[in-house]
Amino acid sequence: MTTQSKWKVEKNKILNMPLEEKRKIYRNSDFIVLDRVDPWSKFFSKNEKEIENFKHTLDDLTEFQKIKLDSSKNKELADRISIFQGDITKLEIDAIVNAANSRLVAGGGVDGAIHRAAGSLLQEECNSLRGCPTGDAKVTGGYNLPSKYVIHTVGPQDGSAKALQSCYEKCLQYQQEYRIKSIAFPCISTGIYGFPNRLAAHIALRTARKFLETNEDMERIIFCTFMPVDVDIYKTLLQMYFPIHASNYNDGASVSE
Ligand code: ADP
Repeated sequence: MTTQSKWKVEKNKILNMPLEEKRKIYRNSDFIVLDRVDPWSKFFSKNEKEIENFKHTLDDLTEFQKIKLDSSKNKELADRISIFQGDITKLEIDAIVNAANSRLVAGGGVDGAIHRAAGSLLQEECNSLRGCPTGDAKVTGGYNLPSKYVIHTVGPQDGSAKALQSCYEKCLQYQQEYRIKSIAFPCISTGIYGFPNRLAAHIALRTARKFLETNEDMERIIFCTFMPVDVDIYKTLLQMYFPIHASNYNDGASVSE
């Protein structure tokens, strides 16, 4: 059997395994099921006092005005988005996104963590894809990860907001083809690639909000924050893009600051 056919065989085998059997091959036994990741609505009500201390800035408002929310969907969408603090490789969900490089060769940061937890066949499958351009995304199996699929996207290294938006859009576009109902994103490009964290979060949340307003099949988009700075940013900006209280941020209404 060639190495290439080995990944194909294993990929299909794992994708068709009953869950209890699949759990035996995870490299991390402390995996996290979707039910243990609170939706934003619940997370907010549990931590309301703390979260409300995270206030947006005037620059946040300027960036926020680039989207017009369909506020009739606020309540429903707050149940379909989450902030998760920790290691993305632990999530037992349909897809996790990898902040990959354009050669799709295992690197550092979240990419290294994903490859370590998935095992060497992930690299074998990546090798068959012949790289991935910046702003695009490609899908592989998850192998020894709790997640079924890994979506590899290549973030910009030059601070291009358009390319970063495209990363989020291209990943979400795979929803139908792979029947993805739950997906987790790391903070793409904000590590080694140096994209400003706050602007990156605006782009991520705007793109997720737009997607969820028109797509009814994605049950949960999880923003996986790893660095404390991103935890604080997402707690601030989720209040804008996924408002819990009806009086907040309706249809771009002005907000006092
Ligand atoms: P990029 O090259 O796109 O900047 P990095 O991997 O350097 O990608 O960083 C992207 C983000 O992923 C950073 O916020 C980093 O802290 C975070 N990160 C690193 N390891 C993990 C992990 N195991 N799970 C989730 N996020 C992670």
